[in-house]
Amino acid sequence: MITKNIKFDDIMKAIVVGSGFGGLSAAALLAKDGFKVTVLEKNEQIGGRASVYSDKDFNFDMGPSWYLMPDVYEKFFAEFGKKPEDYFELDRLDPSYRIFFGDEKVVDVASDIEKNYELFESFEEGGAEKLRKYLEDSKEIYDFSIDEMLYRDYTSILDFFSGKLLLKGYKLKIWENLQHYVNNQFESDEARKIVQYSIGFLGGAPNNTPSFYHIMSHIDLTMGVWYPQGGMRKVTKSIYDICIEYGVEFKFNEPVEKLEIDENQVKQVITNKSSYDADIVLMNADYPHAEIDLLEKENQTYNEKYWDKKILAPSAMVAYLGIDKEMDQFAHHTLFLDKDWEAGFDTIFDPKKAAWPEKPSYYVNVPSKTDRSAAPEGSETLFVLVPLAPGIEDTPELRENFYNMIMDDLEAKIGENIRDHIVVKRIFALNDFKERYNAYKGTALGLSHTLRQTALFRPAHMSKKVQNLYYSGHYTHPGIGVPMVLISSQIVANEITKKHG
Ligand SMILES: Cc1cc2nc3c(=O)[nH]c(=O)nc-3n(C[C@H](O)[C@H](O)[C@H](O)COP(=O)(O)OP(=O)(O)OC[C@H]3O[C@@H](n4cnc5c(N)ncnc54)[C@H](O)[C@@H]3O)c2cc1C
Repeated sequence: MITKNIKFDDIMKAIVVGSGFGGLSAAALLAKDGFKVTVLEKNEQIGGRASVYSDKDFNFDMGPSWYLMPDVYEKFFAEFGKKPEDYFELDRLDPSYRIFFGDEKVVDVASDIEKNYELFESFEEGGAEKLRKYLEDSKEIYDFSIDEMLYRDYTSILDFFSGKLLLKGYKLKIWENLQHYVNNQFESDEARKIVQYSIGFLGGAPNNTPSFYHIMSHIDLTMGVWYPQGGMRKVTKSIYDICIEYGVEFKFNEPVEKLEIDENQVKQVITNKSSYDADIVLMNADYPHAEIDLLEKENQTYNEKYWDKKILAPSAMVAYLGIDKEMDQFAHHTLFLDKDWEAGFDTIFDPKKAAWPEKPSYYVNVPSKTDRSAAPEGSETLFVLVPLAPGIEDTPELRENFYNMIMDDLEAKIGENIRDHIVVKRIFALNDFKERYNAYKGTALGLSHTLRQTALFRPAHMSKKVQNLYYSGHYTHPGIGVPMVLISSQIVANEITKKHG
């Protein structure tokens, strides 16, 4: 990349487009490194997918609810000489989560790993030992990933197949899918599902995700599931506060409409209200939107055809429900896993079968179990999430029918009426993801983590056509989820500072 044409003022101006976790974290890092940073956000608030919806004293985190990989958050805050605890109280959840297996069985996965060994032994003979071994491998690969893979950028195949990576090749088993890997190690349906469900966090299915992502089991079973008191909105607010401390300026309700390019550089960022000079542009808005909608064809690194061929992570229907009673059947996180969950994955990932599913697995988050600021006294805040195929039709009728089908199933499984107790209700689905976040085909999570969409095969952090245009967020390496997005910003901010700082 040639940077000699960039004009250096006394202070370099960085425009960050979008204030999701990717934009906020990158803005804070760039400001700390001496850039004059302005964040241009389409919506009325910070957070992006991690926005907040409040109604009648019910407060919903609209997106992320699982605080995983606390080590990554710690590393991020340490960049500013801070700790997460300087901003919010962090509690380890116990149980970590509850699972309803079809109509048959309900189990709690504990924060105490010894209890989980007993649980696995109850599923199958030798289950405890099998889990111990599985988690040992998972930890080894996690430690390796943190040290060697996640925090580095990949720009060529040579970076990917480095000596250390090749040495670990056998252990990483990159050609094997997770489903195959797990089925060779566990026999019971319950054990298999517990070590595979978490692949949903990466927007994939066990049969299309490489087995080295079994690190997710070290993450949730060993490192634990945490909750920042006050919700994920406390985390976005903390990073926002750091931004303010370092002088970042925010403009809300100001969608970027065009990037004006001259001599292979962004010269002006045009919004609905104004235009901004830029030495550096860091794009946090969804990558396909930025490339297809904001750049002329000749400046796109990846054109529409490229995106159309990609395997997208699921969209979702999320129901935000305020309930006027307390409900004991739910833990903070509760999963409802269908017996035949493979059919559910097919309706999401197989384009020929893409449709609103008939018997989906789904997830209910009840933060008011742990956090009284989420709902008024004697009430609960329910967030019901059902993954859906991106790109399918979304109409008010389809949503309402689907919502009622899910609620029929949910009420039958917990043996209690919910719908008569709803005081707040908002349904959010494909069209909302498109409209609110400019999400390509309405995807909730971005780009899935298949082998061909991992590490250097994810869209690059740097534009290959426009010299001062960079990307952070869930489309880029290392990928989906708040911790990954924070790492993505650390990678790209380092690159920018090295080149232009
Ligand atoms: C329902 C749901 C549940 C999830 N659960 C979890 C979880 O439990 N744990 C976890 O770690 N992760 C979870 N995730 C994933 C995680 O939330 C995302 O990976 C992460 O928040 C993505 O951050 P981002 O900054 O890359 O993108 P975004 O948050 O989407 O940020 C992009 C920003 O760009 C803005 N923008 C778009 N177009 C423009 C434009 N033209 N001009 C200006 N601004 C623009 C958008 O408004 C948005 O603010 C969940 C996601 C969803 C949707």
